[in-house]
Amino acid sequence: SLDIEGVTKSFGTTKVLHGIDLAIQDGEMVVIVGASGCGKSTLLRIVAGLETATSGAVKIDQVDVTPLEPADRDIAMVFQTYALYPHMTVFDNMAYGLKIRGLPKAEIRARVQEAADLLSIGQLLERKPRQLSGGQRQRVAMGRAIVRHPKLFLFDEPLSNLDAKLRVQMRAEIRRLQKRLRVTSLFVTHDQVEAMTLGDRLVVMHEGRAAQIGTPMEVWARPADTYVASFIGSPA
Ligand code: ATP
Ligand code: MG
Repeated sequence: SLDIEGVTKSFGTTKVLHGIDLAIQDGEMVVIVGASGCGKSTLLRIVAGLETATSGAVKIDQVDVTPLEPADRDIAMVFQTYALYPHMTVFDNMAYGLKIRGLPKAEIRARVQEAADLLSIGQLLERKPRQLSGGQRQRVAMGRAIVRHPKLFLFDEPLSNLDAKLRVQMRAEIRRLQKRLRVTSLFVTHDQVEAMTLGDRLVVMHEGRAAQIGTPMEVWARPADTYVASFIGSPA
């Protein structure tokens, strides 16, 4: 489980998060959706430990992770830019984090094979990133996250560089994978349709606040205010 408790963030005198409270159950996928600049990435980066909250706490499985470095938080993050190592093969890109952690070779091979099978990229393991399509690179980035067997997945607009057709396909695949692996997940997007199709629950964020938290159906049918209604496109 992930608990975000009263998290605020200021950059200098500008307050960008005004006290976010969010509890995510084990195996649940929660999508944060909101307009550009509302604070989505900042919140995700605080959960990942890449940014420090001004106040509040982040707990993973009831443990306050505030003092922990990103590498010690048992989190895997997938970004919009996949940041694969260009000189390494797909296999080595996926295995890299596990090698650093000193896992035995056989265990690394087994985990990479398992993730590659899940993502249908088993035949690409010896290629270099430049020999892959955008969608294939995206899968490798997902694979690199999956092999870590994390407690928590964080996604920051991982599909926004893909063309519309591939985006819809990858959306369905992420949903299927998440249900299969049952990893607690927080997914950020500015795309309402993506949010509605992916999320067990949505957080509609507006100017550093959670304007509404609920299932896609609740948010759509009973928007908390006019901002949520117009953002989600609820019937007037
Ligand atoms: P987008 O959809 O465009 O990615 P976002 O919701 O992810 O937007 P954030 O990146 O979290 O938005 O930024 C929230 C606000 O905080 C913005 O006004 C941004 O300019 C500001 N901000 C983010 N990082 C910093 C920083 N390091 N220093 C100063 N201001 C920052
Ligand atoms: Mg962002």
